[in-house]
Amino acid sequence: MSKVLVLYTGGTIGMIKDPESGHLGSVDFNSVYEHIPELNRLQIDITTQSFKTPVDSSEMSSNDWTRIAKVIEREYNHFDGFVILHGTDTMSFAASALSFMIQDLRKPIIFTGSQLPIGVIRTDGKENLITALEIAAAKDSNGESIIQEVAVYFEYSLYRGNRSSKVSSNQFEAFQSPNYTEIAIAGVNIEYKWGSLLRTKSDKPTFLLKASSNIALIKLFPGFDIAIYKELFTINRTKGIVIESFGSGNAPSNLDFQKHLSSFIKSGGIVLNITQCSSGEVKQGAYKTSSFFNKAGVVSGRDMTTEAAITKLMFLLGTYDDLDRVKELLSISIAGEIT
Ligand code: ASP
Repeated sequence: MSKVLVLYTGGTIGMIKDPESGHLGSVDFNSVYEHIPELNRLQIDITTQSFKTPVDSSEMSSNDWTRIAKVIEREYNHFDGFVILHGTDTMSFAASALSFMIQDLRKPIIFTGSQLPIGVIRTDGKENLITALEIAAAKDSNGESIIQEVAVYFEYSLYRGNRSSKVSSNQFEAFQSPNYTEIAIAGVNIEYKWGSLLRTKSDKPTFLLKASSNIALIKLFPGFDIAIYKELFTINRTKGIVIESFGSGNAPSNLDFQKHLSSFIKSGGIVLNITQCSSGEVKQGAYKTSSFFNKAGVVSGRDMTTEAAITKLMFLLGTYDDLDRVKELLSISIAGEIT
């Protein structure tokens, strides 16, 4: 029987609506079986742990991702898989961050949550939790875990964590992975996309638990005034900037903007260019309006999501001092985040 650790960090899934006041409050997740008696019928040995004080995912920072990673580091050899119950709002950031902090995984780390609390009759939480558990416990014919990466399970789809984004605040189908196929679909059976699963040659995971928070995100819009952003380009304050540019990586040919970018990069700052389109990729130099980025030394983030770009930059700047190494790793896939 597979052993799975469920870690409740916070979020709607673990809340119960008080029938009198109507307010949402956190349940003691150790009593989860009372709310989902079906769990007793799964052929899985489940252990639950919980953050002492559940954290709404909007309140989370890289410290909370490190807390999750440390639990997995401590328990890695004692379990076959991990289910992380997490608020949906920033779940894709957390899943992306964990995919960079724990590399060369041979076991599944499945994030899930829900749009409605588990105690509500129409909850999506039961199905999400039960199927996430089945995926975390699933082994192939050689006894190896089928999923060997960080993933997000939501509403019948399993996504690679660092390819996922939250796309709806009110639909049950709240997540998508526009630049990468679902890695499994749950129907009558769970259909794994074998050719799309991440595999490593290493037999031991690496835990790299540091992240820098000196990161900024600039989303361009027509007519933006660079003067408002001047402070961000101060190297003492900011180490890395993610730019969400137009289309395939384009920006206006604004001389002031170019001047700020160039001097920030010359003084040791890192700029990563991703597209604000929800699918497709950056191709720096395809248009005149993106050729400046190449000249200035801006790194193309190709088809990375915003969540992956930000957490990868945080992780790399927290881990490596050598800026050339950071730039090199930014432009290649280290956990399946770039096609
Ligand atoms: N605000 C909640 C959170 O992200 C929403 C949810 O769990 O869906 O923690």
